[in-house]
Amino acid sequence: MPRKLADSTLARLRKALVDERHRLAELIEDRRTKLEQARLSQAAADRSPDPASAEAGSMAFEYEKELSIERNAVDLLAQVDYALERMDAGGYGTCERCGADIPVTRLEVLPYTTLCVECAAKR
Ligand SMILES: [Zn+2]
Repeated sequence: MPRKLADSTLARLRKALVDERHRLAELIEDRRTKLEQARLSQAAADRSPDPASAEAGSMAFEYEKELSIERNAVDLLAQVDYALERMDAGGYGTCERCGADIPVTRLEVLPYTTLCVECAAKR
């Protein structure tokens, strides 16, 4: 039996997911722009006579940092999309591993989660 959440609860969680989706999409767009700029300045630094300069090192670090933020956001966005799919297909709010109901209090904090607290802790 798929979990039956109250319509008002589902509506609230769906809004949270849609808002999160929007926020992540903007963040990814923003990071991609920054990454492109970093890549261009990195390419310029590579052509400079002193590629081992501290400045080049810090730019590479910035690039890595932006890249990891972007990747995390892409991962999270995939989870948000997946949660929205489960919401439509049924199965949202049920732990994917053990089948237990995920408490609404947990869904309020992590609307895109697919695991109950116990299974998430075991990962
Ligand atoms: Zn579980």
